[in-house]
Amino acid sequence: MEGEAVSGAQIIAQALRAQNIEYMFGIVGIPVTEIAIAAQAVGIKYVGMRNEQAACYAASAVGYLTGRPGVCLAVSGPGFLHTLGGMANATINCWPLIVIGGSSDRNQETMGAFQEFPQAVRTSMYGRPGSCYIDIPGDFVNLQVNKSSVKYMECCLPPPVSMAEHSAVSKAASIIALSKQPLLIIGKGAAYSHAENNIRKLVDLCGLPFLPTPMAKGVVPDNHPNCVAAARSTALQLADVIILLGARLNWILHFGLPPRYRQDVKVIQIDICAEELGNNVRPAAALLGDINTVTEQGLALQKSLPMNYYTVFHHIRELIPKDCILVSEGANTMDIGRTMLPNFCPRQRLDAGTFGTMGVGLGFAIAAAMVARDHTPGRRVVCIEGDSAFGFSGMEVETICRYNLPILIIVVNNNGIYTGLDANSWEEMLKFGDPATCVPPVSLLPNAHYEKIMSAFGGKGYFVKTPEELQNALKASVTDKQTPSLINVMIDPQSERKKQEFPWLTRSNL
Ligand code: ADP
Ligand code: MG
Repeated sequence: MEGEAVSGAQIIAQALRAQNIEYMFGIVGIPVTEIAIAAQAVGIKYVGMRNEQAACYAASAVGYLTGRPGVCLAVSGPGFLHTLGGMANATINCWPLIVIGGSSDRNQETMGAFQEFPQAVRTSMYGRPGSCYIDIPGDFVNLQVNKSSVKYMECCLPPPVSMAEHSAVSKAASIIALSKQPLLIIGKGAAYSHAENNIRKLVDLCGLPFLPTPMAKGVVPDNHPNCVAAARSTALQLADVIILLGARLNWILHFGLPPRYRQDVKVIQIDICAEELGNNVRPAAALLGDINTVTEQGLALQKSLPMNYYTVFHHIRELIPKDCILVSEGANTMDIGRTMLPNFCPRQRLDAGTFGTMGVGLGFAIAAAMVARDHTPGRRVVCIEGDSAFGFSGMEVETICRYNLPILIIVVNNNGIYTGLDANSWEEMLKFGDPATCVPPVSLLPNAHYEKIMSAFGGKGYFVKTPEELQNALKASVTDKQTPSLINVMIDPQSERKKQEFPWLTRSNL
């Protein structure tokens, strides 16, 4: 044949190269040695291993780490058989992998064109990733054909990205918003989809506690304050809502069943594989799609949803100075704050106290600010009030401004005492007549702008509805050490604390 000839081995190597295959692991022998040599010649890195099984494990790990399949090269018969462990492992792990095995010679006619390569690459990467096997007839490896007669397929595109159905995303968001003990489980599907930045945002914005599976460790760093890995069993057992991000409810996660989980746990499942949804546990919401994209969808929606107490306290905890004096009063606001806001020094917390008094907050805050100013200059006072509690002595804001005490007041506003009504329900109620006879006694005026009391006297007032607005207002108030400020935080009027486990101890809360 003329100088234009190319061998089967070279075609294989070039076809792989065309698919951006970077690594090949294997053990050579008849009939695949030439393939390894040809691969090196086109710039594919060939790593000779000592057992095909290890070679196959190596190739599959490349697939997980890079998102494009690694190749495992093996001889026919026992060599190929040894790759089975690696192929099974890759398939079960959902990692892309291509195994190329040589087999005995065949007639040229039955070989088929080299379409198999792009197909194998695509099959291994698209949808749920996994392993693919290509069998190369031995005689093909050394066969010479005319170079111009060979057509290489273009490199297949990265997997198309799928989004979850919008209704499923909003259903998931409202389940999370009403949850009392949500838990995010991060699996290696999340790691594989490079969703780390968005997951990190979701954790920070919603204050979600999270648990990584072993190989998903590090998607959000282990030392993040919301990582509950140290209390794994308890976290799984107590969660009322579990968000499964690219993890399967298999043996590693105890099949999602009691006693490791609550009988009534609601599972929100996010996976790229439709067949996985509903495996073992019937999901409360099933989101079919790429984790990174679905997380982004969730983030977008989160911004339009009312916050709950846990989200609000999460951000307060993150952003207020550790040594500040905390003043707090209210019902849910004070109770949840007791557990969610840690204290680090003695005499750092002033609240409704033994007498359960409402209306003490602003007086306490003013006293604390005077004492701090004179004895520990620079120490801040943060006063966290329910909207109802704030009403008892809200006019002391004028006192605060008159003496220019840089107190930060945060009103956690749920439009009522215990719980309130949103603006729409309020309007509906008014249709029944006189509010004095038809509006629930626990309701206060919806969306009251308490922050304007602060701005009326020259302090800074913020009206916030989203986690981002809350973060910004908190940062601004903490940085400005001179000016009194009030952040009016709108939360879901139906948001509540967790039910008492032992109600007979506190009958009044029944
Ligand atoms: P772990 O061992 O960490 O619990 P699993 O292997 O059980 O994780 O689950 C990983 C899941 O991630 C699989 O169900 C797989 O279908 C899914 N997955 C893989 N890639 C993606 C992706 N890009 N988007 C969504 N899900 C994915
Ligand atoms: Mg209230």
